Amino acid sequence: MRRIVIVGGGTAGWMAAASLTRFLRNLKCDIVLVESEQIGTVGVGEATIPPIMNFIRVLGIDEDDLIRQTNATFKLGIRFQDWTRLGHSYFHPFGHTGFEMEGIGFPAYWMRQRLAGAAAPLEEYSLQAQAAAHNRFMRPVKAPGSPLEGITYALHFDAALFARYLRTYSEARGVTRVEGKVVKVDLRPEDGFIDALRLEDGRRVEGDFFIDCSGFRGLLIEEALQAGYENWQSYLPCDSAVAVPSERAGAPPSYTLAAAREAGWQWRIPLQHREGNGVVYARDFLDDEAARETLLANLAGKPLADPRILRFVTGRRRETWKRNCLSLGLASGFLEPLESTSIHMVHRGLALFIQMLPDRRCEPADVARYNRMVAFEYERIRDFLVLHYATNERRDTDFWRHCAGIEWPDSLKSKIELFQSHGRIQREDTELFPEQSWLYVFTGQGLVPRRYDPLTDLLDPEKMRGALANIHDVIGWVVQTMPHHQAFIDRYCAAQ
Ligand code: FAD
Repeated sequence: MRRIVIVGGGTAGWMAAASLTRFLRNLKCDIVLVESEQIGTVGVGEATIPPIMNFIRVLGIDEDDLIRQTNATFKLGIRFQDWTRLGHSYFHPFGHTGFEMEGIGFPAYWMRQRLAGAAAPLEEYSLQAQAAAHNRFMRPVKAPGSPLEGITYALHFDAALFARYLRTYSEARGVTRVEGKVVKVDLRPEDGFIDALRLEDGRRVEGDFFIDCSGFRGLLIEEALQAGYENWQSYLPCDSAVAVPSERAGAPPSYTLAAAREAGWQWRIPLQHREGNGVVYARDFLDDEAARETLLANLAGKPLADPRILRFVTGRRRETWKRNCLSLGLASGFLEPLESTSIHMVHRGLALFIQMLPDRRCEPADVARYNRMVAFEYERIRDFLVLHYATNERRDTDFWRHCAGIEWPDSLKSKIELFQSHGRIQREDTELFPEQSWLYVFTGQGLVPRRYDPLTDLLDPEKMRGALANIHDVIGWVVQTMPHHQAFIDRYCAAQ
């Protein structure tokens, strides 16, 4: 390939430009990005998950510099408030909890002791959860055997500044930016591949391969190539969001807050200079005005702009790659930001694309393999999100009663049934969320296995008790040695 053309200069477009310019630097391949300032970006993706740190590292970006320039804070997990029932909350931390005993995983022996009333709540054994509860943060250190070695984290950042950062990075490495509005897509008559884009001012942008990062409308993948869309609204009923930035209120927490509301939920994302907020809701149960009022009534600081409404259809593009066009970001599908997975899927899509880098023919077998992998990952993330809604015990509003009746996808049903029998978790290697994420959300949502895992009969009960007490005490002690989140930022990466 000689020329790859990206359409869209939002988070997805500039992530694509940065990755391709880095990984394809030894190919003589021009990378061109077309964006229209007149159309603008969504600009609300501000919470991430740990793989983003790899994305930053492999690009060779200095993490502290990025944090300073995007007003970022650190994230150790998500607190879910009022999801299971009103007044209840639980934490989904990043990272690993506990250790194996004689080949038997922590979840199994913790659950056994918990069912017997002899173990504390799960989050008391997680360094990330406890650090977040005490608003502490530090990066991993080389301390053999200490939980401080394995600290796992992500970032909250200003989405517009993140895209700008990646634009500077990409342009410095040779990416050509074209300002202009695409008004027509020319297809080759012989095979339906995209040949060129027509801009409003008459320019023609040719390419061998095209990456559609044009947002929800999917200018190339849907409007030109009709790849189709699988709608998942019957599983995830929210279809709108209203978002507003607000003044910072107090020291930033080292976690995202997801608080359930009357007909959806509200996010609170702390940045260094402000907070990002939004209510995700279902219009069948709440109108726009009521959503706006809910948002404004639950801000910690003063709003800094007028609330902005966004509409979405939860689901995924049936073919995320079709012919010589790959779609990324909102053009490839959308799952609401409950577990901050959208930016991750851009990163994941790029990693898979680079693994399966095509030549100009785009062999159908390669394309089919890519599409199968992306579809699988989207579906498993969908299941994880459905779990939060469909297992709630709330019956106080029509929305939550409706959610309790949502039919589980078969893939989720089998996971829940397996967990309810002996607390076991079934997970394929390519699923995003690790076993322990499922454990935290299963138990947080109030699911309890009928019996403990019989494998734990192989363990000495005294040793199990001792291991749990040891993990609990070490975590409690280690957290006290960590700096406060704000102090850590001030020391290493405060925005100027
Ligand atoms: P956009 O930001 O919409 O960018 C589209 C680009 O295409 C723009 O540059 C536009 O100018 C260009 N374009 C469109 N049409 C044309 C045309 N005709 N000609 C030229 N250019 C064109 N993700 C997370 O990971 N974490 C979160 O916390 C999170 N929160 C979210 C909250 C909400 C309410 C929503 C809706 C999304 C959230 N996301 C989150 C998702 C995240 O915002 C997106 O994945 C991310 O911003 C990528 O968007 P994008 O680049 O695909 O699209």
